[in-house]
Amino acid sequence: VAKEQDQPFCFFSQQTQAELDKRYQLESYVVDALRNEELSVHYQPVVSVQNQQVIGAEALLRWNNAQLGEVDPEQFIGIAEKTGQINEIGNFVLRSAIQQAKQWQDRLGRPFRIAINISPIQISDPRLVQQIDQLLRCYDLDPRSLELEVTEGVLLQDSYQAEIVLRQLRDLHVRVSLDDFGTGYSSLSYLQKYAFDTLKIDRSFITDSHSNAQDRELARAIIALARKLNLKVIAEGVETEQHHRFMQQENCDYGQGYWYGVPVPADTFDADYIGLSRT
Ligand code: C2E
Ligand code: CA
Ligand code: CA
Ligand code: CA
Repeated sequence: VAKEQDQPFCFFSQQTQAELDKRYQLESYVVDALRNEELSVHYQPVVSVQNQQVIGAEALLRWNNAQLGEVDPEQFIGIAEKTGQINEIGNFVLRSAIQQAKQWQDRLGRPFRIAINISPIQISDPRLVQQIDQLLRCYDLDPRSLELEVTEGVLLQDSYQAEIVLRQLRDLHVRVSLDDFGTGYSSLSYLQKYAFDTLKIDRSFITDSHSNAQDRELARAIIALARKLNLKVIAEGVETEQHHRFMQQENCDYGQGYWYGVPVPADTFDADYIGLSRT
């Protein structure tokens, strides 16, 4: 076999074939991931920027497969959306996270908010709202403690269906946030039409906020906009003290990022953020 550096074209075509193989392999493994108990949910703290108190967590899906190792969520969620597995997987995340949030809330003796990502495919599943309602009742979690995160993809795909579902969720008193705000084609009119509760400023505006004046101004403008529309704001990707200070100065409500805490399994989250507060 020739060395890769001697045969650049061969190398590239091999890589492409390898990518196709990987995708095919991923698709076949995703189907069994849930049944084989390879999926788990990690939790990342969401803090109040002013006093750094942990007010809740975002549930983030993890897949660990014996052959593939840890697979990037963006990658396998995309596949699960295509194969249709996302409804079942999404339901697993909802059940796990709602159950967990109830436990933490009881232990803390104060409200604890759990944020869960919802794929556009789930929004178009007519059973979604009823499933969420049942889970909240089953685990006795106050609907106001649940925040569903959607991206504008939800609104673009089938805006009529999205409007109905988001209204039904609001009728349950579940909160809804617009994730990755500022990265896509979000029309400002969406913000009013769908009556979101929270905006999550995409981390790309925070990352270079200390060095890039434009990103800094955009982050400021998003916070000001949210204020005007009576929405809460979460800054994502707060990785440094500088980022944190900037968000503090701007009176951003909540923050999330490696500076406050990375996503961790439930028992670690419990030990790091809940256990100490046990009464
Ligand atoms: P997202 O909803 O925007 O989630 C935030 C992502 O940013 C997470 O990546 C998180 O680990 C990462 N992150 C948090 N703090 C920082 C930071 O300070 N710096 C940097 N660079 N990154 C940070 P993760 O866990 O890899 O998830 C990627 C995406 O996969 C999520 O983006 C979300 O779109 C999707 N996803 C994850 N779990 C689920 C799920 O249960 N259902 C659905 N539908 N999508 C999910
Ligand atoms: Ca999210
Ligand atoms: Ca996000
Ligand atoms: Ca994202």
